[in-house]
Amino acid sequence: MQTVVDRTGSTGGTGSTDGTGRSDPSAGRGGRGGRGTPSNRSASAVTNTSLNPAYAPFLSKLTRVADMEEKAGPIPKFSRTVNGTLQEVPACVGYQVRGNCSINCPRNADHVPHMPEQINIFADWLRRATE
Ligand SMILES: [Zn+2]
Repeated sequence: MQTVVDRTGSTGGTGSTDGTGRSDPSAGRGGRGGRGTPSNRSASAVTNTSLNPAYAPFLSKLTRVADMEEKAGPIPKFSRTVNGTLQEVPACVGYQVRGNCSINCPRNADHVPHMPEQINIFADWLRRATE
């Protein structure tokens, strides 16, 4: 048992792997453009990676938006700039509460973090819609 593979003893062993440094995985990125594969499902999926904790209590109580609107009234709308125009866009339950939606969503202008005022309004609506 005399394995002399001394990895910690850095006596000149480093730098011997220089020749392989060219196979950088990121090099493959810019190669071929123009292949969009628009039919790919995951390409249109949008994930909210920073879910608002204010909406978390309602996640398990969600029903269909139509049903919730029947209970609590129309879903709150917020002013959003869409294609350079200011519009009133309904909050997106899928993105804001469930954490996933699609870029084809009609409410995708709301696929952004809510401001504190908007959080109050939307959380209040969710509370009434799910109680
Ligand atoms: Zn959406």
